Amino acid sequence: MSKRKYKASNAALRTRNPIRELIEGLDLRSNPRKPVIPLSIGDPTSFGNLAVPPVAEEAVVVVARSQRANGYPPAAGADAAREALARVHSIPAEAGSGEDRSDGWTLRYTKQDVVLASGASHALDLCFSALLDAGDNVLLPGVSFPLYETLCAYLGAEVRRYLLDSANGWRATGLEPGGAADQLVDDRTVCMVVNNPVNPCGAVYDREHLQALIAFAERHGLIIVADEIYRGIVFDTDVKENAATPTATVVNGHDISATLPWDRRYPPLASLSRTVPVLTVDGLAKRYIVPGWRMGWVLVHDPTPDGGMREVRRALEGLCMKILGPNSLIQAALPTILERTPPEWNESLRLTLARNARFTCERLGCIPALHIPSTPRGAMYVLVQIRDAEMSGLEFVRRLMAEESVLVLPGECFGATPGFFRVTFCAPLSVLSEAYSRIASFCQRHLTQPNGI
Ligand SMILES: *Cc1c(COP(=O)(O)O)cnc(C)c1O
Repeated sequence: MSKRKYKASNAALRTRNPIRELIEGLDLRSNPRKPVIPLSIGDPTSFGNLAVPPVAEEAVVVVARSQRANGYPPAAGADAAREALARVHSIPAEAGSGEDRSDGWTLRYTKQDVVLASGASHALDLCFSALLDAGDNVLLPGVSFPLYETLCAYLGAEVRRYLLDSANGWRATGLEPGGAADQLVDDRTVCMVVNNPVNPCGAVYDREHLQALIAFAERHGLIIVADEIYRGIVFDTDVKENAATPTATVVNGHDISATLPWDRRYPPLASLSRTVPVLTVDGLAKRYIVPGWRMGWVLVHDPTPDGGMREVRRALEGLCMKILGPNSLIQAALPTILERTPPEWNESLRLTLARNARFTCERLGCIPALHIPSTPRGAMYVLVQIRDAEMSGLEFVRRLMAEESVLVLPGECFGATPGFFRVTFCAPLSVLSEAYSRIASFCQRHLTQPNGI
């Protein structure tokens, strides 16, 4: 028998998923007398209450039957799909947010600025792989989607975290000259990630805060990787009236009624950047309830006067050759999905998640042992703090599962300081209600009540 030891690559062996590791390390067991309620992973299809837009479903059926989308598309994506993405992500000046460019566009993309990927995860991988050599470093938000770290670990890039203020809408702090974030930057710092709306805490950054982040990146010569997979999933109620009665607003040939009210208040980061290159990552998974379709994309925004991102573009195109792009059927259906899903459908998803967020804060917010430092204002998550400093997020998650069969994720998975857990609030209200009752009785049994309540 061979004595040979078959070795794996070092890069692969240091590639880890913090959620998997923490969960496996916790040895999670549910209470056999209670059915498990998983409020853990961010998969909006989990409970069957949120459905894919009928237009999208039909579009996939039609392209499958057509037999015209079964071959290899170009590596960076089918022309029609890239063109549709360039159209829907461009913002004409008339609809824009104030500072409009002389060419009539606040944000302008062409097909050449778009690269398709197998989900936003692969789009992030393309960005990091295009930018980072081993030994480089990346600035990540203080709490963030764990995949960023996984991808950077594979590349041998170091992760440094800029602080978010949990009590101030999870905004970044220390961005001013001489501030804490400045200390993180050295000559190997290449890019910073800005995720908005934010997984895992549901924060939404407004124009002013995005501008502060851009100013920081500009001062240090960093590229911004903007993960905007939850774009438009924001919960303000005062814009609701506008959005509920969408007026057909056709500007420069494209209908912007669906995104108009949101983009005014929460513009995509790239639309605000006059100097800093931005790689925007987005995808269908969350906004269209189809994570399994694995469709994402990268948008290259290069506002430099001399095409400073030329080499990065070449790198992205080269990397696409590795797997030749996402599934051809979804690529072919993409223009219809993006441009024919009725605004009412997007609006109804937004209102459902807004209602679930409100319900979550009402129910968890009145448990004395818990604290929600900042109310979620977008995405589909909230980070909840455990007031009792004796119990870590990990311990809370393990014991809650063992006794109440409710699964949430420890804040530690997302880089949070101990004492937080994340709740995904996509489930139907009846399921959330049962889960929150169980959390309340668990807290009552085990946690010190503040002020002797
Ligand atoms: C879910 C998620 C992704 C990954 O999306 P896929 O398209 O399913 O790969 C990326 N970023 C954030 C912040 C997410 O929450």
